[in-house]
Amino acid sequence: MRFRLDDPRPEISVVAPCFNEAAGLAEFHRRAAAACERVCREDYEIVLVDDGSSDRTWPTIRDLAAQHRNVVGVRLMRNHGHQAAASAGLAFARGERVLLIDADLQDPPELLAAMMHAMDEEDADVVFGQRAAREGETVFKRASAAAFYRLLSRLAAAPIPADVGDFRLMRRRIVDALAVMPEQQRFLRGMVSWVGGRQIALRYERHARHSGASGYPLAKMVRFAIDAITGFSTVPLRLATWLGFGACLVAFGLFAATLWLWANDRTVVGWSSIVACVVFFGAVQLIVLGILGEYVGRLFQEAKRRPLFLVDRVETEGRSYALPPDFAALGPEARHKVWKATRATATRVARPAESGRSARPLDLVAGGLAE
Ligand code: UDP
Ligand code: MG
Repeated sequence: MRFRLDDPRPEISVVAPCFNEAAGLAEFHRRAAAACERVCREDYEIVLVDDGSSDRTWPTIRDLAAQHRNVVGVRLMRNHGHQAAASAGLAFARGERVLLIDADLQDPPELLAAMMHAMDEEDADVVFGQRAAREGETVFKRASAAAFYRLLSRLAAAPIPADVGDFRLMRRRIVDALAVMPEQQRFLRGMVSWVGGRQIALRYERHARHSGASGYPLAKMVRFAIDAITGFSTVPLRLATWLGFGACLVAFGLFAATLWLWANDRTVVGWSSIVACVVFFGAVQLIVLGILGEYVGRLFQEAKRRPLFLVDRVETEGRSYALPPDFAALGPEARHKVWKATRATATRVARPAESGRSARPLDLVAGGLAE
């Protein structure tokens, strides 16, 4: 059985968050497994995290977990978003090295061999994929992504490389460092940069999605960008101060101009200039308040200290496991202990053919709590 305290670590863990990826998952597993076998034979695991999908993603993951002993299926209680799903996957990954990759096959799993090679050659802690080309993405997405990465690398304290997604190979010590960073608004690629160590880039061509649609519509992308900037930089707060100073200068200029006009007996009625000033200063104050609000909101979210994600259940080797709700907040050692306790509550998975569903999710969570 897996997940024993004395279990040796597999050489590689592949972690893939999946949100409505049912159509492409089997192909993803086939290619990822082949890529792993090329570098470490059977000594790997593939952690597939179902991020509250509404299609057949979870049944597909269950089937894969039942058929292949290297697959660990993790189902979250609801859709927590890409970054939380990836963090959940990293929490379960036990490998000496962890490959974080999207399940939509935009990033080729075959690059694993080259990444391993680069990691060994350069004695690196992280090898991240840097996108040289992006197929099948709109001009808008490409242009906005380029502008965003340039802005971010100017604002953030730790340099965050441009054109880099979450596709990367990390050593265990980096993954463990991420596990003890408790922030709720996660921007993994920035967090990895912040951890430091030796990080190198590997250029590759990003492909079009294998199937399905992007789970990142514009609104989510904007949120993600704001999370990234406010999570890694307080420059916008300073921007507010500069805006205030700038507005003061403009006000002084206007005041001087008014005095000059008055001295030269050329005072005009001036209704429009007053209104313009009022609107201008009102706008500056609103902008500043909005920026403050972003940070206060983030403080509020962090202060609640909720777990990053809640796990509905985990399936591997034909068994289903329930986990206590605080699992996400545990450190690596405590997680192993919880795993050990949880084993006692494992239920044999009823195949989808035998019955519609296995035990109800809440029973399983309760089972985990009771040890
Ligand atoms: N994803 C997720 N939860 C979400 C949205 C996306 O787990 O709420 C997964 C998705 O299945 C994929 C990866 O995150 O494996 C990247 O998402 P997507 O391909 O939609 O983003 P894009 O590549 O378009 O930026
Ligand atoms: Mg994608």
